[in-house]
Amino acid sequence: MGIKDIKGTGIKDWRGQLDWMRRNANAGGLAATPYYLSLANMNLDGDPILAQLKMSGDGTALGSEKESSDPLGEDEQSPVPRLVHRYSDRALLLATNRCAVRCAFCLRGRIWRGGGDVSSWMVSESELDDIAKYLEKRRRIREVLISGGDPLVLETSDLRRIITRISRLPNIRVIRVGSRVPVVLPSRVDAELVDCLASFPGLWLATHFNHPRELTKEALGACRALVSRGVPVLNQTVLLKGVNDAPDTLERLFAELAAHRVKPHYLFHVDPARGCARFATGVERGLEIMKALRGRLSSVATPVFAIDLPGGGGKVPLLPDYSRGDGAFEALDGAVIPYPFHGSCFGS
Ligand code: SF4
Repeated sequence: MGIKDIKGTGIKDWRGQLDWMRRNANAGGLAATPYYLSLANMNLDGDPILAQLKMSGDGTALGSEKESSDPLGEDEQSPVPRLVHRYSDRALLLATNRCAVRCAFCLRGRIWRGGGDVSSWMVSESELDDIAKYLEKRRRIREVLISGGDPLVLETSDLRRIITRISRLPNIRVIRVGSRVPVVLPSRVDAELVDCLASFPGLWLATHFNHPRELTKEALGACRALVSRGVPVLNQTVLLKGVNDAPDTLERLFAELAAHRVKPHYLFHVDPARGCARFATGVERGLEIMKALRGRLSSVATPVFAIDLPGGGGKVPLLPDYSRGDGAFEALDGAVIPYPFHGSCFGS
């Protein structure tokens, strides 16, 4: 089905959009909602929407020896099914293996490639019991990231049940829901869902815009609906070669997100997951871009650039080095200026 036909599907209902996506993917088409596909420009070489969707080869083979099906070693750090515990203060709950899009750069492709076994596509009650028992016994865990897959493809009643269960644990103070739904299926952010998310104090939503083309009135409206009801919205972007690896592109994206009270939180270098090597800019290019953005974006609009170390080593924030030795630092215009309070002894 061509893009023109997709624009003509006229499917407004979010469940219908998801059904259409599954049928299109099963028929060998792209795994994205008609809404998201309608943002693509077929006449643009290297279109940033289509580039995020097109798998390399059949999408199952590793593209290079640097790639891995589980690049962050999450399976090794899973003490109970569907829970990843890497940091002392937080844990990751994989609520579902379904998404509203299948991104070609996804670090968890191993989960959604696992298939759609109805008995396992969503966390079960007994799995939730085991997760709750594990979390309750570890009082240092304060925060749970509910992700997947994408938890916002669940029915609101299921989502509410999962969040309620976790939020009732006395040690859990913060819940972060990770979702690309505002970007790829904004109609899903309906009044019932907003009511649900807004009813949990300590809940944040972390979404995932990668390109200014995704900043439609529908997507920004979904974010506004959440923010205006007191749900803080963060954004994480993956740095993708050929999609958004240019300072002007990211400046537009981050400035516009901040203007809509969506805080640019992280800019991640792409993980060495299956099929991702072709998106890798290299860490050095990421640092160059962050340096170029200095002075063009305030701290409100500037994310932290980070890599996630393979094998469960955790996130490492990275900054360009502005030190020029002997207590001198590089200014915005490139001048080297000594800083008076440098070193352990400031003299008399
Ligand atoms: S929405 Fe997130 S979890 Fe789903 S395919 Fe995209 S990056 Fe992966």
